[in-house]
Amino acid sequence: TVYHESDASLDPLDGRTIAVLGYGNQGRSQALNMRDEGLDVVVGNRADDSRERAREDGFDAYPMAEATARADIVLFLVPDEVQPEVYERTVGPNLDAGDTLVFASGYNVTYDYIEVDPAVDVVLVAPRMIGAVVRELYEEGRGAPALLAVHRDATGEAKARALAIAAGIGSMRSGVVETDFETETRTDLLSEQGLFPVFAAALLARFEVESEAGVPPEVTLLESYLSREMAHIFEKCATEGLIGQMDLHSRTSQYGQLLGLEAFDREPIREFMRERLEAIDSGAFAEEWTREQESEDSRLERLRRRYEGSEFVETEQATLDAFGLRET
Ligand code: NDP
Repeated sequence: TVYHESDASLDPLDGRTIAVLGYGNQGRSQALNMRDEGLDVVVGNRADDSRERAREDGFDAYPMAEATARADIVLFLVPDEVQPEVYERTVGPNLDAGDTLVFASGYNVTYDYIEVDPAVDVVLVAPRMIGAVVRELYEEGRGAPALLAVHRDATGEAKARALAIAAGIGSMRSGVVETDFETETRTDLLSEQGLFPVFAAALLARFEVESEAGVPPEVTLLESYLSREMAHIFEKCATEGLIGQMDLHSRTSQYGQLLGLEAFDREPIREFMRERLEAIDSGAFAEEWTREQESEDSRLERLRRRYEGSEFVETEQATLDAFGLRET
């Protein structure tokens, strides 16, 4: 089911206080959007610059435990990997029967890392967009598409409340798809673990092949993604379609693209994705990630270091500087 603006109602949130826990990427944008919609929003964050920023933005900001205790609807917007501990310590003990806990990611519920009191609603409102853009789109009068799910309806109002939260953050202006926590988790993790590695591997392979063939590396990198031509093509895919956007390219380019697509054997990619999905579905990835976070020896750091100092990264960083492309 897809919900749109005509299905949006903020009424289920009437007279209710909403706590946004975590004033980060998603937290800040969602809190600002909901306040602009006239909702009663408070912020919960540990005592640091983020809490100060919330106060500067005009919110009443409290420790997370206190914000939870004050609220009826709690948006849990801290990173997935710290949620179980923060939940155990601060959120869980301060939720009351009849409250609604809103996640923006299915991860911890899917893998049973968080068990919520049965008298509390558990719902998902997950924008398919980075936090900063959730705010930018709202300010432009648009909204970020979102996935919505109800894991537990303790109050009989869980779905209506979740839809109202989606309306509050602006997502109904675009479209909200109803799904379940497991589906959100699978597709989100497969983007990260299946799709992104295939893109990155294709870029690395192209760099290797063109280097062997004597193409100057900065030329390859500009052509690949540094010029942003690829980013613009993806923008057009989002509005015209993957094949539809080809009308914007020359006929030589169209012929070459379609010929290449015909020649390409997708089976190895399908096989790679199936394997990744299997590890996601069986919980093997989640277990490994939990072990990794408890380990002294960070594999994440080691994996990142493997690319540091590589010809690819060195050339890429030098090209960013040479063309003044860096934004930070
Ligand atoms: P951030 O990394 O921006 O962190 C959010 C907040 O968490 C910060 O305010 C931070 O506080 C707080 N925090 C971090 N560690 C701790 C801790 N140990 N104890 C207490 N507070 C802590 O998170 P995101 O906004 O990226 O993600 C929030 C949720 O939204 C996640 O469930 C994520 O999966 C989901 N999501 C994220 C998207 C994205 O594009 N980023 C897209 C869709 C969903 P402080 O500033 O004080 O350190």
